[in-house]
Amino acid sequence: MNFQNNTASGGTDKMAKTKQKKSFILENLLTILTVVGVFGGTAFGLILRSVNDKWKARDIMYVNFVGDLFLRMLKGLIIPLLVCSIVSSVGALDLSLSKKIGMRAILWYVCTTLLAVTQGIILVLTIQPGKGNTAAATKTTISQRNVLTTDTILDLVRNMFPDNIAKACISQYRTLITPPKDFNTTDLTQWDINSEYIENSNILGLVVFSIIMGIAIGQLGAAGVPVLKFFESLGDVTMLMTTWVIWMSPLGVFFLVSSKILETESFSLIMSQLGLYFVTVLTGLIIHGYVLLPFLYFLFTRKSPIIFLRKMSQAIITAFGTASSNATLPVSMQCIEEKCGIDVRISRFVMPIGATINMDGTALYEAVAAIFIAQIRNVPLSFGHVIAVSITATMASIGAAGIPQAGLVTMVMVLDTVGLPAEDVTIIFAVDWLLDRFRTAVNVSGDGLGAGVVAHLSQGDLEDMTDMPMSLKSNEENTPL
Ligand code: ASP
Repeated sequence: MNFQNNTASGGTDKMAKTKQKKSFILENLLTILTVVGVFGGTAFGLILRSVNDKWKARDIMYVNFVGDLFLRMLKGLIIPLLVCSIVSSVGALDLSLSKKIGMRAILWYVCTTLLAVTQGIILVLTIQPGKGNTAAATKTTISQRNVLTTDTILDLVRNMFPDNIAKACISQYRTLITPPKDFNTTDLTQWDINSEYIENSNILGLVVFSIIMGIAIGQLGAAGVPVLKFFESLGDVTMLMTTWVIWMSPLGVFFLVSSKILETESFSLIMSQLGLYFVTVLTGLIIHGYVLLPFLYFLFTRKSPIIFLRKMSQAIITAFGTASSNATLPVSMQCIEEKCGIDVRISRFVMPIGATINMDGTALYEAVAAIFIAQIRNVPLSFGHVIAVSITATMASIGAAGIPQAGLVTMVMVLDTVGLPAEDVTIIFAVDWLLDRFRTAVNVSGDGLGAGVVAHLSQGDLEDMTDMPMSLKSNEENTPL
């Protein structure tokens, strides 16, 4: 009997090992294919451009069709995944523990964002890419929405508390100021105050609502369990759907990148005007995302950040391909849980919040871009200005949605602090689509490394917790650490 058992378990072991090997190859195969997708898409785009320099919008739309499908599938998963993850993870923790974990995550996010901004400011003040750059200054201007920084900040807070949760899934509140009918003034503070809803999910509102709902479930105890189970189960279903969509990444990324290349203006012209600015932002992003943050991760966890980032590579490439940390959320959560082995109670709590408010890459870029434009416009910057830029760039990155080029919109706030008009964002517009991809990759890497650090710091607390719901427990046990 014993002998039979041994043989059976030996066979099972072998089978498990072969299965593990197979899945290892498959996982890496997908990442490799996605990298090939990025480079292949770039090459394909360049080849198409060499055939014809000006592509019609309709033709670009055809090239982008598959990429668009991929993006739509990922976006469709965001809200169910985000809400279910937060509700189920916060609901499963007791209040003091979720407070602890939440505070650790927020502290990490704020400190690393400030670090990114400081580093960007040091780089742009040292390299001075805008000094004597007259070519970029002649960019044509487009009309921008009139906004006050105060309104932007108040809207951010308002959106944290959605008045209608269904509406929050599809739109965001925005203050609109319009010139008064009876008298003429350029003083925006005297303009009439109205409001509008713009089509864009109010992710921040959904995050806050889900956290509060999770807390309420936790407080209710047994009475809240059915709701908790519902969200846990829906979260697991969405995660499984994510694993299917991820298999579309190589093709999706290929067409997203190639169509973007078809859309852009002449590269050589852009680079001759904005090359140094591009290099400054890129250097900052690389140092922050792939030197400083990994170093901090190592300091806190004493684990290899290289292995961690390698395991996150699928999410990092998807971020590059989609230019959206929200759209990448399903992929990054999958990597963090399945590959990096982070406790699901941490990943499902911390990652959606990170994808919404933690954008180190965006913060760094906003600070560099505002100071670059000030240098071009010959606006002298005092120390006070620089401090103001760092604070508003941090706020702007928190307020930026995790969608393509959202940072460009919130940059208006940072420009305002150095007395520059909103229209000046057009100066950097030409390279923004490409920088956006790099900064999104850093945003996603920062979320992942942050989750890794918070998980490490919270390990003891989580081990002390005995009343963990079964579904979360079994998920954790299946995940190798
Ligand atoms: N695209 C960025 C993101 O989704 C935001 C931005 O910087 O524009 O993270």
